[in-house]
Amino acid sequence: MSIKVRIPTPLQKITANLGEVSAAGASVKDLLADLEKQYPGIKERLYDEKGGLRRFINFYVNNEDIRFLNGEATPVKAGDELSIVPAIAGGAPIEAHGGTLINRVVDSQKRSQWLSQAASLPKIVLGSREKSDLDMIACGALSPLEGFMGEKDYLGVVNNMHLANGAPWTIPITLAVSKEEAEKFAIGKPILLTDETGKELAVLLLEEKYLAQKELECQKVYKTTEEAHPGVAVVKKQGDVYLGGKVEVLNRVSYSDFLPQRLDPSALRALFVEKKWKRIVAFQTRNPIHRAHEYLTKVALEICDGLLIHPLVGDTKGDDIPADVRMKCYEVLLKDYYPMDRTVLAVNPASMRYAGPREAIFHALIRKNYGCTHFIVGRDHAGVGNYYGTFDAHFIFNEFTPEEIGITPLFFDHTFFCKKCEGMASNKTCPHAAEDRVTLSGTKVRELLTQGTLPPVEFSRPEVAKILIESMKK
Ligand SMILES: [Zn+2]
Repeated sequence: MSIKVRIPTPLQKITANLGEVSAAGASVKDLLADLEKQYPGIKERLYDEKGGLRRFINFYVNNEDIRFLNGEATPVKAGDELSIVPAIAGGAPIEAHGGTLINRVVDSQKRSQWLSQAASLPKIVLGSREKSDLDMIACGALSPLEGFMGEKDYLGVVNNMHLANGAPWTIPITLAVSKEEAEKFAIGKPILLTDETGKELAVLLLEEKYLAQKELECQKVYKTTEEAHPGVAVVKKQGDVYLGGKVEVLNRVSYSDFLPQRLDPSALRALFVEKKWKRIVAFQTRNPIHRAHEYLTKVALEICDGLLIHPLVGDTKGDDIPADVRMKCYEVLLKDYYPMDRTVLAVNPASMRYAGPREAIFHALIRKNYGCTHFIVGRDHAGVGNYYGTFDAHFIFNEFTPEEIGITPLFFDHTFFCKKCEGMASNKTCPHAAEDRVTLSGTKVRELLTQGTLPPVEFSRPEVAKILIESMKK
C-alpha cells in the first residue's frame, strides 16, 4: 500500500489521496502506520504513549469524521481521501481571547529534558480542579492564560474583572498550597505537577508566591463569603498561598470518559472550518436538556450556521446530575431531535464555580477560545441558591464593551410550552397566564422521575426522561 501525502511545515492539514491503496479494506490504523514509515518524525505527533490517537488530532475520510476510532472499524476504499487536521488550525471565524490560541504543550525534545530531571524536582500532586485548569491552559481553552495566575492578574481579576494585560477575565485561575508547603518552593525553581498516580503532567516555572485574599476573592467573585456556597467552600478549603507562573505541559491529563467528545479548541476550530460554519453558537449546560433549553438552542441555531452543545463535565456539586447520565441524555436527544449536520456535541472540561454572572463571562470566553462566535446566556446562568439575581448574568455583559468580549452573547428569558400559543415560547413572546404554561419546578421534576413517572411531553422528551428515571433507580 502506498499513500501520497504532502507534509507541510509546520504540520498543518494533511490530505492523503488513497487512490493507490492496493489493499482496499485497509484500516485507518494501517494507513497511519504506513504514514509513520514514510515520515518518521510524524509518529509522536499522531500517537500518545499508549498507542492511542492523540485527541487533539482529527481524522476525516471523505470528509466523514472518524476521529478517535482506532481504525479497525473504519475500512477505507481505493480512492478515499484521508485528511488529518492537527492541533493548530487557522482560519476559524473568531480569534482566541487575547488574539492567540495558547498551546503550552512542549515539543518532544523539551519534554525528554524535563522528564530526565523530573525525579529531582519538588512536586505538587494536583487535585481534580487544578488538573482540569491545567489541561485547559495546555490546549488554549483558557487563552490568553499561559499558567497559573500571578498576583497582579489575580487582583486585577478579583477587583476589576480584567487581567493585568487589560483583557477581560472574571474567575481566578490559581494554584493553592499551604503555607508550610509553599516554604519548600523557591522562586525561579521549577516545580513538577503530577496527577494522583504520579504521572508527570507539567512543570510550573515558579515566578511568584503570594497570599490569597480569600475574603475579598469570595465577596467579589461569588458575592458572598458563606461556605454554604459551593464555590466559596472550595476557595476556603484550599491552601493560603497561591503559586504563579507559566506551565510547560509534558503530558495531557489522561481522561477515561467521553473521549470522542473531548475536543480541544484547535480540533473544534478545525471542525468548524471544515464544516464552513461562520456563525457558531455554544450552549453551556450542567443539566439534562429538557424542552425549554432545547427550544432556546434551536432559536439560537435559527440565526447561526452551527450549534455546539458543550456540557460541562468537570467538577460539579454533589446533587447535580452526574455527567455520564447527562451525556446519555444529550446523545438520545441529539439523535432524534437535532439536525446532526448542524450540531456538534463536545464536552467542556471545566470545573463549575457557581459564580453566576462572573461565570457567565468566563463560560463565554472559554467558548470563544473553542471557536464559537455566539454564546447562549439563559436565566440564572451558573447560579446556585439565591446568591444572584435571575438576570445578573445578562447585565454583567454591560460592564464590558462588545469588542473586548468578542463573542456575542444571546440572552434568553424563561422558556416553556404554552397551551394557548400551542408551542414553545418565553416570557418575552407569550402573552398568556401562568396556568396556560407547562412549567415544573426542579423539585417537582425530581419527584416525578424518582417515582418513575414521565413528566409531560411538553416539559421533557420521553427518551430523556427515561434515562433519568433509570439512573435514579440505581
Ligand atoms: Zn402563550
